[in-house]
Amino acid sequence: MKSKMQAAFVEAFGKPLVLKEVDIPTPGTGQVLVKTEACGVCHTDLHAANGDWPLKPTLPFIPGHEGIGIVTAIGTGVTAVKEGDRVGVPWLYSACGHCEYCLAAHEPVCREAQFGGYTKNGGFADYILADPNYVAHIPAHLAARDAAPLICAGITSYKGIKETQARPGEWVVISGVGGLGHLGIQYAKAMGLHVCAVDIDDGKLAHAKRLGADVMVNAKDEDPIAAVKKATGGGAHGVLITAPSLGAFKQGVGMTRKHGTCVLVGLPPGEFPTPLFDVVANCITIKGSFVGNRRDMAEALAFAADGKVKADIELQPLSAINDVFHRLAHGDVPSRVVLEFTSH
Ligand code: NAD
Ligand code: ZN
Ligand code: ZN
Repeated sequence: MKSKMQAAFVEAFGKPLVLKEVDIPTPGTGQVLVKTEACGVCHTDLHAANGDWPLKPTLPFIPGHEGIGIVTAIGTGVTAVKEGDRVGVPWLYSACGHCEYCLAAHEPVCREAQFGGYTKNGGFADYILADPNYVAHIPAHLAARDAAPLICAGITSYKGIKETQARPGEWVVISGVGGLGHLGIQYAKAMGLHVCAVDIDDGKLAHAKRLGADVMVNAKDEDPIAAVKKATGGGAHGVLITAPSLGAFKQGVGMTRKHGTCVLVGLPPGEFPTPLFDVVANCITIKGSFVGNRRDMAEALAFAADGKVKADIELQPLSAINDVFHRLAHGDVPSRVVLEFTSH
């Protein structure tokens, strides 16, 4: 086996990533080494590289938490996976397994959770070290490139829709039809929901329609709260905000039906004002949702294995990462870019 690999590093926040040749890591006790086949580029990677959030990653680091590949080496004591398995190395890289949150399957909020491509090096590299207890197990007939967006964008939008508790036949709004949202529309339709898609880009909305959304609203052209209320007869039972834009959050609360739930998953830095009277008097729930647990992961992947959900992907090489980030920041990525790694 060769000893060097290519990886893209964030060396300074807000600066272009630096491609470097570094040593391939060796799996220690309880770790596995994954040879990357594909890795999706999530808007979170952009937040990470810009140092957008209060808890910043330690520099330098390798982003990427939608990495899919083959286990090529295992450390001592590993029994959960074996060499040759196809796995994903997700945002929830590891957790303690013992705390009150882990015991309740709320492992993404474990105090000791590690995050792929953030507190641990991620998938913008030829090889990734992973914790075998937390890798995603990729169904046999799902290609790596198709599986990549599902292990973050897929699980997050699927879990977020579940968290709205909207029931079949009810309405959900998917606000933001990018990486997360284009999958969210498909999950929601597969779950028997009526879907109203909201974005600020007509191209994204045309795509939402092709994916089965029942109503499309351009938040730039019309009052999105009034439009959603009209289309849904008083507001959506569930609202999922994926847009990395603060304005979309306040609008999302306004689109929520009485006794409905507005789930926040987009993570733009900052805060948004909450109209207290409306939230209280209409008994609205505002809820955060952070990726999902391992069971959610298996379910999210199963929808794709059953042919009910398919990510729309644009393939790029790792060397294009800075251009991809630039386009993502400007809303110029149609759905999801997946970095493809060629065998060498
Ligand atoms: P993306 O860039 O692919 O998609 C964002 C979409 O939002 C685009 O289609 C854009 O046109 C649209 N948009 C922008 N402003 C809008 C507005 N005002 N109203 C409606 N739509 C608007 O991003 P992504 O990869 O889908 O990620 C979205 C956000 O979700 C990011 O902030 C990311 O960090 C976050 N995220 C959160 C979790 C979690 O666990 N909570 C997981 C993954 C990603
Ligand atoms: Zn992500
Ligand atoms: Zn824990």
